[in-house]
Amino acid sequence: MVDVSLRGLSKSFGSHPVVHGVDLDIQDGEFVVLVGPSGCGKSTILRMVAGLEDITAGELILGGIMANDLSPKDRNLAMVFQDYALYPNMTVASNIGFGLKMNKVPAEARERRIREIAQLLQLSDYLERKPRALSGGQRQRVAMGRALARSAQLFLFDEPLSNLDAQLRTEVRTQIKILHQKLGMTSIFVTHDQTEAMTLADKIVCLHGGKIAQTGTPEELYNEPKNLFVASFIGSPQ
Ligand code: ADP
Ligand code: MG
Repeated sequence: MVDVSLRGLSKSFGSHPVVHGVDLDIQDGEFVVLVGPSGCGKSTILRMVAGLEDITAGELILGGIMANDLSPKDRNLAMVFQDYALYPNMTVASNIGFGLKMNKVPAEARERRIREIAQLLQLSDYLERKPRALSGGQRQRVAMGRALARSAQLFLFDEPLSNLDAQLRTEVRTQIKILHQKLGMTSIFVTHDQTEAMTLADKIVCLHGGKIAQTGTPEELYNEPKNLFVASFIGSPQ
């Protein structure tokens, strides 16, 4: 787990600027939610943190280290996307343990870790199933399990609940909340959904047109929105 700092982080695609000087400090163990309407730059910020997109200007600091030019695999992060891709021909256990096997973790330690994670995510009864025999919510939990198994220092979530129906969305959201309470993994979670932001975040970063409109606790944004955009987006009566 690690402190993360974004200092004036900016991104242009060609001559088209989409992220404008984002400053953000994330403490070890904090759950930070980037929220804002579609197209405001949330995924681009996350992809710069992950190393999947070059940083046009500014600095990314991971655990005290200037990380702008670190390759994605040297950043020790786990990412959970909306379109989770599980291996269809592997069991749930093998899907969760895949990264451990790649890293040559011995079979016994691997199995112990898989069982631990399955218990955390309430997947213990499904370990021998193939993904097609699971519900959407269970599959998304397997994707999270795979990310957790790797003991990454930072978790990045890009709208992981968007493809789930309303009931499953609530179920998986609760699971993420419980997981964070238990494990305290430093997390950046991207969503356009205010309810997700309000229920999950230690700190919300509300984005508008590639800029930070306001940063604060859910209560601060709800009770003291800095401007009309934040007020209408977070839904506080003005
Ligand atoms: P969000 O995740 O908040 O919906 P994105 O970060 O995906 O927003 O996109 C922010 C802006 O950057 C949008 O206007 C989008 O069209 C643009 N954009 C994203 N990726 C690219 C790309 N690879 N090339 C050009 N423009 C892009
Ligand atoms: Mg996005």
